[in-house]
Amino acid sequence: MRLHGILETVCARGARGRTRKRWSLTGNGDVLVKSFYNFLIDGGTRCPVAKFFWHCACPRKINLFNWLAWKNKILSLDNLVLRKCNKLPTATCVMCHSDIETVDHLFLTCSFTRRIWDYFTHLFRLPEPPGLMSSLWGPWRLAVQPAARDFCDLLVKALVWNVWLVRNDIIFNATVVPVFAIILKIDRMLLSWFSNCSVNFIGKIEEPMKSISHSLEFIGSRSVGATSEVGSDATPAAEVQLLSSE
Ligand SMILES: [Zn+2]
Repeated sequence: MRLHGILETVCARGARGRTRKRWSLTGNGDVLVKSFYNFLIDGGTRCPVAKFFWHCACPRKINLFNWLAWKNKILSLDNLVLRKCNKLPTATCVMCHSDIETVDHLFLTCSFTRRIWDYFTHLFRLPEPPGLMSSLWGPWRLAVQPAARDFCDLLVKALVWNVWLVRNDIIFNATVVPVFAIILKIDRMLLSWFSNCSVNFIGKIEEPMKSISHSLEFIGSRSVGATSEVGSDATPAAEVQLLSSE
């Protein structure tokens, strides 16, 4: 317990230079039981994103994975190299083959992932994704319109999770998934989460979910029989343009 640290020593002006103990958990230095209770609950472990991060309508494992990705604690190829347990001959990204697979590259700057981001940033008029995961849940989220943040949280988590699944499919199953198929998966995932939301939360994300539903019908109807490969321009650009202009 850092009780001693809560009591900070200050000079009391006008009291012949005497020092006194001051309760640092309140602005005026007064001891309040409530302030100590709050300290016990989250003191020392307060995280700037925890307030909104865990109150999300997505499954816990996806929440947790996003948290680990944000903390750079997942088994990306660069982290495997650091641990000396990368079984692949290289740490180069398996989706674009042009850079080392770090969490920042994999989820934000990879040209393959970027096409998924481009689709959703156009559709919902979101800011361009940052280059660092450390910015994703900080400055970037703050740049999103406040009314859109609850939906945006879900979107980011679904995107990051699906990119990870695609990357694993390529590494472990040699399976290639086109970009538009991933967008469809993200759309469907978001709709399934939406159907399980509380009534209060539904009201906050109803409008963007209508757009998701619409784009799902639109892209789905045009993707029947379509094939593509990783590295090709798989995103239906015309559809993105059309949807984003609505
Ligand atoms: Zn890449």
